[in-house]
Amino acid sequence: MPALDLEDLYREILLDHYRNPRNRGHVQGAASCAADGANPLCGDEIHLEVVVKGGAIADIRFTGNGCSISQASTSLMTEHVKGQRIAAASDAAHAFEVLMRTGEPPVPGDLGDIEALAGVAKFPARVKCASLAWKTLEQALADAEAGGHTLVVSTDERSAP
Ligand code: ZN
Repeated sequence: MPALDLEDLYREILLDHYRNPRNRGHVQGAASCAADGANPLCGDEIHLEVVVKGGAIADIRFTGNGCSISQASTSLMTEHVKGQRIAAASDAAHAFEVLMRTGEPPVPGDLGDIEALAGVAKFPARVKCASLAWKTLEQALADAEAGGHTLVVSTDERSAP
């Protein structure tokens, strides 16, 4: 039997999340916080809505358009942080930043399927695509910590409606 080709496995994970995105749509009822993220270099856009209950991410949904890496990364991110405490989600965002900077997760296995994006680290332009989800999440969570109310912000300085 041939050895399992990790690159093929990773491609399958990313294609699956791109074709069948998890947590796509809008949260039911009022979001605790929301944020818009854009990566104008590639044309990626995402809108995140988060429901925070008792210091944890009770629900998280996204809408958006863009390249397969940006949309697959957002799907993977929502799947990973849903149900997690905000502090754990922030830790995951930091681990993802290390993964994108070095191509290696700080603790192998901690990021689960997200580690399928490790190869992106070799392509700086695509790092922006993959990181959009996490930068937007951090923005949304910062707003939740600040007030716990629905705020719409943007990572690319556009003014909120
Ligand atoms: Zn992109």
